Amino acid sequence: MAPMNSAELFARSTALIPGGVNSPVRAFGAVGGTPRFITRAEGPYLFDADGNRLVDLVCGWGPVILGHAHPSIVAAITDAAGRGTGYGMPTQYELELVEEIVARIPTVAKLRLVSSGTEATMSAARLARGFTGRPTIVKFAGCYHGHADAFLASAGSGVATFGLPDSAGVTGAATHDTVVVRYNDLAAVEALFADIGDTIACVITEAAPANMGVITPAAGFNQALRDLCTRYGALLIVDEVLTGFRASRTGWYGVEPVTPDLVTFGKVMGGGLPAAAFGGRADVMDKLAPLGPVYQAGTLSGNPVAAAAGLATLRGCTDEVYAHLAGCADTIVDIVSEALLVAGVPFCVNRAGTLFSFFFTDGPVADYDDARRQNVAQDAAFFHAMLDAGVHLPPSAYEAWFVSAAHDDAALEA
Ligand code: PLP
Repeated sequence: MAPMNSAELFARSTALIPGGVNSPVRAFGAVGGTPRFITRAEGPYLFDADGNRLVDLVCGWGPVILGHAHPSIVAAITDAAGRGTGYGMPTQYELELVEEIVARIPTVAKLRLVSSGTEATMSAARLARGFTGRPTIVKFAGCYHGHADAFLASAGSGVATFGLPDSAGVTGAATHDTVVVRYNDLAAVEALFADIGDTIACVITEAAPANMGVITPAAGFNQALRDLCTRYGALLIVDEVLTGFRASRTGWYGVEPVTPDLVTFGKVMGGGLPAAAFGGRADVMDKLAPLGPVYQAGTLSGNPVAAAAGLATLRGCTDEVYAHLAGCADTIVDIVSEALLVAGVPFCVNRAGTLFSFFFTDGPVADYDDARRQNVAQDAAFFHAMLDAGVHLPPSAYEAWFVSAAHDDAALEA
């Protein structure tokens, strides 16, 4: 295989892969330029096909919490793969991964493994509809729950409206029962419940939103959602795909202990391999096939290699790791804030546990409309200046920054 640089690889890819990438944000569409092709990664660093070493502040969009190519994860994967890469039959790997998660998260009585966050949220919403016998899903503008049709709706205004599709190919019928509400707007959620509460199957919310940049839930917002759902017989689905096992040892629940009926996980729990999950109340989970009438399945669900990687990752996520992540987040927030202040650049930095992101706007940023007021051209310029200086930031102004246990003083200094 002759070595090629990023530009050559991207040109070859665009001929065969739409946009040259297998997930849109990788294409650098929001920041311009040619995406870097990565040849290997180790600890806090990525190495690209152009011979550069980059400090990685994306960390695989969240999964890489112990650092790249962590020896214990590589060993677990190697050992599992040596026994076969998948059987389509139950294994002790998946049982132990589920046991590890249930032991950490007191609100999860039962859990089912899937292969992506999209599958987890899609399955949880189907289960909520099957359990309640109601059609309506309530979601918040700017919250991302994967690319299942029913979630690709986001109204721009602050008033709750029936969702219009966000993507071509999503029919009005697919989002007809999705209602989009402004994030952090409790009065709008209350009004919605007062109006159509008896049709609402579930409210789904990111535990702490991190897909419009990081937004901190207003004090009491998540608990108020819990109380409203209880009052009207709807289910609360808390999406911890991004925050789970990252915001703290027990995810956002460890920062703000609000009890969901169902919770979704992904990213960290797969250790960089495809694994995700949804779980919660036993009486709700027992409505799933083969026990109950709600169908849900997957050829690769609970794959032993992915389960082994996830288990090794979670077992490595000690209290020391979380303390380190928090310290790294503090350091980066301080360094970048100071530099922007000195340069006289207006900015707002939001935190949610060990997650954070910068917005080029005066702020405050408390919802999607606020986030869209940021100067994305400035973000693109900042992104490229940082990339040229050897630091890989998320190539979009609407993403969180991620750190890992491997981000040491040398990486932070860089
Ligand atoms: N939910 C949240 C909160 C996410 O951040 C994501 C992905 O970023 C998803 C769901 C979808 O997960 P996946 O990309 O694994 O399908």
